[in-house]
Amino acid sequence: MTLRHQITACTLCADRFAATQTAHSPRPIVWFEPTARLLIVGQAPGKKVYKSGCPFTDPSGDRLRDWLGVDETTFYDRSNVTIVPMAFCFPGNDKAGSDLPPPKVCGQTWHDSVMADLPDVKLRILVGASAHRYHLGVKTSATETVAGWRDHAPDTFVLPHPSWRNTAWLKKNPWFGAQVLPALRVRVKEVLNDGSRHN
Ligand code: SF4
Repeated sequence: MTLRHQITACTLCADRFAATQTAHSPRPIVWFEPTARLLIVGQAPGKKVYKSGCPFTDPSGDRLRDWLGVDETTFYDRSNVTIVPMAFCFPGNDKAGSDLPPPKVCGQTWHDSVMADLPDVKLRILVGASAHRYHLGVKTSATETVAGWRDHAPDTFVLPHPSWRNTAWLKKNPWFGAQVLPALRVRVKEVLNDGSRHN
């Protein structure tokens, strides 16, 4: 059984999900190919993605594609762009209707094996604090980590989560749109057009 099939069949969090407000079953959203040059590490699928079975089919995805400067066709070309969340399943909602954090067991069980299965990645985009913490080992806030984006560019970019919940953050931190996004779009274009650069 391939790694992708193993993850697709995973039910490790069945009891945990059954106990949430949404009382749902595991549905891992698996979206990676070993040929990919651009890796997006996200947080966890939301409720809309749980239903669609396809990553970032929601307003967060629209905003993320705008940040990257790519259209849907490019974004969903798995041979070039791979999308690996820190948890493959929708974690469920709490009593207030907010998404629960990604279950750590998912990252601990699968993430390193998936990363080892992606030998051609030239650009890593870390979206949200869970991805920052796992990949960079940082303990800083998402704002501090993103503010230090130059420490990791051009082969890694650190982004806040593109959720509507961060709209106020984006307004409060205009340097993100003015400095990070232009550099990110240049690098994305470069990697998708020619994966051999920065080898
Ligand atoms: S979140 Fe990850 S560990 Fe939990 S059931 Fe889904 S694939 Fe398995």
